[in-house]
Amino acid sequence: MQRLQMLINGQWVDSISKNLATIRNPANQEPVAEIPIGTRDDARLALEAAYRAFPQWAKTTAQQRGIILHEGARLVRKRLDEIARLLTLEQGKPLKDAKKEILFAAEVLDYYAEEGKRIFGEVVPTTSPFIRSFVIKQPIGVAALITPWNFPVDLLAWKVAPALAAGCTIVTKPPSAAPLAATVFIGAIHDAGAPPGVVNVVLGPGREVGAELVENPISRRIAFTGESSTGKWIMERASQRLKRVSLELGGQCPLIVCKDASLEKAVASGVRRAFSNMGQICISVNRIYVANEIADEFIAKFVERTRALKIGNGLDKDVDLGPMFNEETRQKTREHIADALRKGAKLLYGGREPEGKEYKLGFFFLPTVLIDVNHSMKVMKEETFGPVAPIMRFRALDEALELANDTPYGLAAYIFTNNLDTAIYAAEKLEAGGIGINVNDVSELQAPFGGWKESGLGRELSHYGLESYLEIKHVRLELQENIW
Ligand code: NDP
Repeated sequence: MQRLQMLINGQWVDSISKNLATIRNPANQEPVAEIPIGTRDDARLALEAAYRAFPQWAKTTAQQRGIILHEGARLVRKRLDEIARLLTLEQGKPLKDAKKEILFAAEVLDYYAEEGKRIFGEVVPTTSPFIRSFVIKQPIGVAALITPWNFPVDLLAWKVAPALAAGCTIVTKPPSAAPLAATVFIGAIHDAGAPPGVVNVVLGPGREVGAELVENPISRRIAFTGESSTGKWIMERASQRLKRVSLELGGQCPLIVCKDASLEKAVASGVRRAFSNMGQICISVNRIYVANEIADEFIAKFVERTRALKIGNGLDKDVDLGPMFNEETRQKTREHIADALRKGAKLLYGGREPEGKEYKLGFFFLPTVLIDVNHSMKVMKEETFGPVAPIMRFRALDEALELANDTPYGLAAYIFTNNLDTAIYAAEKLEAGGIGINVNDVSELQAPFGGWKESGLGRELSHYGLESYLEIKHVRLELQENIW
């Protein structure tokens, strides 16, 4: 069994507590690796190391930081098989999806290696001929980066890369139950030449290690992805010292399928985005509104395609869906389905574990399709974070848009239509940080990613993601009048 450690001040170390946790494979409960269980004291040591390393790192040029980020990306690609295998073993997703995640993380490192060179300031006009005003941008300081288990490498890369490119030093806190691939990913940046203390990893429970990273005065910037309730707690605690915070939180994302949509494409995209990673994606399609005229055909094709998905151990060849991450998430999915059925929904497929002895020890669950749903049901309003696709019919577009917006969340929304006016009208009316038109993904490296309403605060990816690790400073200078 593999044994991983934490990275503090350039050294791989165990926790002060000496306690260890075993990470298990959600597909069969077999042990995968042992990791230290960090404490508040470990988190403090990492923060102090990052604090000491900050002045020197902030002084390096964007070119020098870029060289390390590019080298990190190269090492991540070189170690692709190792990191992807660990990700599948600890998280459950099919190996091909794990590889895609790691490759995107490497791309993010490369992107910010270059974007860091475009941290431009401004020279602004003044009210006097002898005054000059400059706006410069400087790294905020030590950044604490806290991430969840559904995309433990990508969501970390989205934070690590811009933070380092901006000149911040970082302490990362991967999810307790899926920390392996993330730790090896950070190891690549360490091996790429990040000086001691610039990049740190502390493992351990969020309520202890994560809380210390949030509350300790050393951290000046908190970047968090996770549940809305945790995000609200973090914002409250960070407000005590007015720390800069970005929050990427939960979602309840609608897909609207209009009568003029390309049906096959809408079905394929909907099935993929509703069920991939077992619905454990913040921008999953969580509910579908389909125009009455095409609803029967859409539903029949949707069920047929869902039925064809291959479920199994993520390491097996050609698997579409692995297990769910843990029993808690599977149980919540069961409860949301039961709530919908109690309130009149009809189950067309799934709703239970798959049959067969290969599924007995893992957290497997069938992708589930529901119809006759309404907004009194949890599946339509709350975040299930499981493989459930409830489908509802609509008559007029405005009705669908109103239903789509009827949620406290606002992360992503999708519409399939071949009418340009409908597409633009809907894109402007939908309350979400990302809108997908005839496409089932709103993440694009060069574009901002983030949520409206209770889905979050701030943006990641693109130059917006970089700006959030920088402070703005106005420098005002008076020249000697006699020279002029
Ligand atoms: P959690 O909020 O439970 O945990 C996220 C991270 O925060 C973990 O590392 C966790 O540690 C840590 N944490 C927990 N409590 C605290 C605390 N008090 N202080 C500081 N850190 C803490 O989320 P999940 O891991 O369950 O992830 C699933 C959620 O993430 C879903 O709601 C999903 O929608 C959201 N998400 C949002 C995305 C977005 O971009 N908007 C993208 C992906 C997911 P530990 O593991 O030890 O509990």
